[in-house]
Amino acid sequence: MTQLPPKGRPVEEVLAAIDQLKHHDTDSTGSRLWSLVYYHSPEVHRLAQEAYARYIAENALNPLAFPSLRKMENDVVGMVKALLHCPAEGAGTMTSGGTESIFLALKAARDWARATRPHISVPEVVAPVSAHPAFDKAAHYLGLKLIHVPVDSAGRADVAAMRAALSERTILLGGSAPSYPHGVMDPIPEIAALAREYGLLCHVDACVGGFVLPFLEKIGVAIPPFDFRVEGVTSLSVDLHKYGYTPKGASVILYRERQLRRYQFFVYGGWPGGIYASATFSGTRSAGAIAAAWAILQHLGEEGYILAAKAAWEAAQHIQAAIAEIPELYIVGEPVATVFAFGARSPLDVYSLGDALGRRGWFLDRQQKPPSLHLTVTAGHARVVEAFIRDLREAVVEERLRASRGSWRRRLGRQAVRTGLAILPERWVRSMARWISRTARTDKPPKRTAALYGMMASLPQQDSVEKLVEDFLDQALSS
Ligand SMILES: *Cc1c(COP(=O)(O)O)cnc(C)c1O
Repeated sequence: MTQLPPKGRPVEEVLAAIDQLKHHDTDSTGSRLWSLVYYHSPEVHRLAQEAYARYIAENALNPLAFPSLRKMENDVVGMVKALLHCPAEGAGTMTSGGTESIFLALKAARDWARATRPHISVPEVVAPVSAHPAFDKAAHYLGLKLIHVPVDSAGRADVAAMRAALSERTILLGGSAPSYPHGVMDPIPEIAALAREYGLLCHVDACVGGFVLPFLEKIGVAIPPFDFRVEGVTSLSVDLHKYGYTPKGASVILYRERQLRRYQFFVYGGWPGGIYASATFSGTRSAGAIAAAWAILQHLGEEGYILAAKAAWEAAQHIQAAIAEIPELYIVGEPVATVFAFGARSPLDVYSLGDALGRRGWFLDRQQKPPSLHLTVTAGHARVVEAFIRDLREAVVEERLRASRGSWRRRLGRQAVRTGLAILPERWVRSMARWISRTARTDKPPKRTAALYGMMASLPQQDSVEKLVEDFLDQALSS
């Protein structure tokens, strides 16, 4: 579609068109996705729809216009404060998501530094490489310098490296509880102590963990300290639209001290439209996301969240145990809760395994450093765990076979290159030449095998030559 329809289309027709479009999407309620969607149950889904719909027209920009919204936002922040042991003197706001919560924590830190350390021209933030890119994004927008420090072999932020990265310009230290890629907890008490030692701020990114760790702790899972009970933690972000199971557009940013929150506000008095005040990044804000979050927090309550955390935890444990039984697979780092990643040992290729799972209708995100597949396990996954494990085992068997054929192919490929592809039938060589020249966008494929070898040798990296040959063989040896 390149323009508006000249005449509007009837409601039923438009809805049918949406359903038609959606037909090709992954089913968001089917729990076959291991990221992006946090699904609880049909009841929670329905409640979210109904509560959201009741506030479809309202606007949370002005907290005075709709007292019900103001109450709901205060209630939500109040409940989350208690859950994460934020002192009563502390304060927070709801935001549109984790990225905005982290942005505001860094914005508050920047403006706090402008007020209290005006000599710093480019303030610095220190965080581990595993920290969410929202830190990088916020630093980019805010004119801050983000310094990444490495993680240790278990995947935790290296606090000695953090100490070494401090400078006169450092204003904030960041850590994750847990990190998204590997579900590993940074040593928050040590990071916060370092921040205290130097009079710095300390932000805990509990976007993914903030609504699951407290409930796991209540059922006796060993959760390292990460919330406001840790002295020195000055702000914390927690997403409701993840393990709070609320619709997208709901997160909370909390500050230990009310005064710090002021630095995130923006007020401009000179506008002809009136005095413009906004507490968060957004102007107009979705009221539906606030109402639905309030509704679901009320509906599930502490007991509901404990049950949800337990279901997700047991499912995650179950999958991890199944992975541990497969010799070629390993869990990356030391995950603490319901988010984790697994890699594969050679000759198994974890991305290829991801494809094999994809063919069976499971969608796992691919990660790098190390190559791995990612799982965000939710309460909704409890009912598909057995099926997933069955398919994982089956996919591994399939991949073992592929890998053994693959190593034969790799050998053949290398040998073929060394011997000028003499061992391949003529027909293959010609087709391979055509294919390689197409892929490599060279001009005309050489006619002779030696020339073909020469052409491949002139390709940028030896690596990519091998890959070309492998890919070709994979394609040619299709049966
Ligand atoms: C999801 C996530 C974020 C970003 O949150 P969005 O809601 O996607 O903006 C930040 N940190 C962690 C650890 C996350 O898991």
